[in-house]
Amino acid sequence: MTEPITALKGVGPKMAARLERLGIATVTDLLFHLPARYQDRTRLVAIGSLRPGDEGVVEGEVDHTEVVARSRRMLLVHLSDGTGGITLRFFHFSGAQQQAMARGSRLRCFGEARMGKAGMELVHPEYRILREGEAAVEESLTPIYPTTEGLHQMSLRRLTDEALARLDRIPEWLPAHILDSSGLPDLVTALRTVHRPPPDAPVSSLLEGRHPAQRRLAFEELVAHHLSLGRVRARTTDQPAPPVQVPGELVRRLRDNLPFSLTGAQQRVIQELVTDMARPHPMLRLVQGDVGAGKTLVAVAACLHAVEAGYQAAVMAPTEILAEQHHRNFKALLEPLGIEVAWFSGKQGVRSRREASEALASGQAQVAVGTHALFQGDVTFHDLALVVVDEQHRFGVHQRMALREKGARDGRLPHQLIMTATPIPRTLAMTAYADLDYSVIDELPPGRTPIKTVALSDDRRDEVVQRIHHAIGEGRQAYWVCTLVEESDVLQAQAAEDTHAQLEEALEGIRVGLVHGRMKPRDKEAVMARFKAGEVQLLVATTVIEVGVDVPNASLMIIENAERLGLAQLHQLRGRVGRGEAASACVLMYHPPLSQTAHRRLEALRNSTDGFEIARIDLDLRGPGEVLGTRQTGMMQFRIADVVRDQDLLEDVKAAAGRLAAEHPDHVDPLIDRWLSGSQEYGRVG
Ligand code: ADP
Ligand code: MG
Repeated sequence: MTEPITALKGVGPKMAARLERLGIATVTDLLFHLPARYQDRTRLVAIGSLRPGDEGVVEGEVDHTEVVARSRRMLLVHLSDGTGGITLRFFHFSGAQQQAMARGSRLRCFGEARMGKAGMELVHPEYRILREGEAAVEESLTPIYPTTEGLHQMSLRRLTDEALARLDRIPEWLPAHILDSSGLPDLVTALRTVHRPPPDAPVSSLLEGRHPAQRRLAFEELVAHHLSLGRVRARTTDQPAPPVQVPGELVRRLRDNLPFSLTGAQQRVIQELVTDMARPHPMLRLVQGDVGAGKTLVAVAACLHAVEAGYQAAVMAPTEILAEQHHRNFKALLEPLGIEVAWFSGKQGVRSRREASEALASGQAQVAVGTHALFQGDVTFHDLALVVVDEQHRFGVHQRMALREKGARDGRLPHQLIMTATPIPRTLAMTAYADLDYSVIDELPPGRTPIKTVALSDDRRDEVVQRIHHAIGEGRQAYWVCTLVEESDVLQAQAAEDTHAQLEEALEGIRVGLVHGRMKPRDKEAVMARFKAGEVQLLVATTVIEVGVDVPNASLMIIENAERLGLAQLHQLRGRVGRGEAASACVLMYHPPLSQTAHRRLEALRNSTDGFEIARIDLDLRGPGEVLGTRQTGMMQFRIADVVRDQDLLEDVKAAAGRLAAEHPDHVDPLIDRWLSGSQEYGRVG
């Protein structure tokens, strides 16, 4: 089956080159080039029931035909079937065609309906003139393959017909006992069904991708994906790493200094990290926790273990503001223990950068905090044992792998701890981060009062301003977040500046601060520090404060134009309050009318403060690519699987991947190759 594609009839060098563009080099590749969708030509659609965007077969009689010349000459054929009428529009046509479609002739057409100026129309539909007693519509769904220029669906269908004739020679890498009781068909049946759905196959389940044959292939694809990430993982975890085995004296001293005790979940996760790091191979662990669950302390504890063992630790955050915040927190917690923290930012001055680099290279600084500037060429570590990456989902799998190489010393790789800010549903995390071990801080620190969330139309802005007055009168602080659709920093900053000016006027005697992405880091930091110290009472900000910012005395969050933001971002922003003992509130101001999705988003936030629950809704609303961030989307593009639709398979997929690797290790590579050929395979990219 690894026969080259040229073994098929009619595949010469030209055709082979086109197929190559689709990643098809062998007959097997072609068999796994699956239909992207199906066309339903199995039943006639009443013309009167067609809606714009509908695709289907219609049949009718020609009322009249005309050639019009607007910007170009075109043939218009008006067709009706008793339920309604539709216009066929042709830009390329011959005289013979025009005659054949004369008044009174019967046509069967297939195309996508759209709304034209004079009603519903089909542009260049496929059509046929019907003779008396002409056979019925097609018996089964028509597969539509992903294709490339110069390669027609007809050619792909003909070639797959040929390949399917050799199907019985395809090896089965997932033995029946591993596929197990799931009741899914064998590979040959599944491939045959998906390429050529039989007439009796249920149409709707095929169109939705829920037919057992499709699920069988999705299952195998997900197993292949899992094994591929496992292979990437093994390449790292097979390497040596500095074992970190210490009594935990520094963590004990840290805990003594804290005004509260760690939650049970924090302690459990710290223990998981400590166990991982004690081994002579790199830890690769993802820690998830809802907003405010106390991830920072877990990271600090892991760093302290590395330091106690005589090594260094590095903490990287995706944005300046978040890195600055970590820097402040880490310094406050670590300096009392006699530990020096070095700071790295893309925006820092040459001198400060040089001093930090020297402190790190000499080992004088034991912990480094920064943005990705931390991992640029000129930064060298004395002896790095741990890398902490915060807010992981903004980094892609390739960056993650690149990071692993950094700080390698004498062939040893550092341990790696990855933290996500926004909870990711477990099913999705299991797939996207199958190369990582997984811990969840599933408990919030005690004494938090739930955040009350309300949605208000923006014509009630005055009431909102009153609320701010009230909260600040009680000694509390508040955030006011300005949002714009435009990604432009300049416009965002402008909007924030305008709002700042307005609020300053409306709230006389209240100290209003402003932060946005266009400010100098030093100015931004100064404002944040004043807010933290309580000198600034109301902070007007762009979404730069989205993650990480932690001011427990702030109890009121106003989000302007909340309808423009995604669920995860709104949950993150709301998570800036509710961090102290005071009852907190979040006001989602929107500009009516609300779209249906926006309505569902605001509704979800009003009904829940559980980040994992919100993430599940987000996944349904937006799909996995968006939830994971755009960088990760490439990784989640499957041929047939869909992690939302197929989530019920994921537990079994994980188990099957494990069993296959253990019981049939020789099946692993061919299975991965079958599904992830060429550049798609992560292992080959890193
Ligand atoms: P996140 O998980 O969102 O990163 P942080 O680490 O920023 O959360 O912690 C949020 C706040 O909770 C901080 O003010 C932190 O000091 C506090 N905190 C963390 N752990 C505890 C705990 N066990 N008990 C009480 N407060 C805690
Ligand atoms: Mg955090």
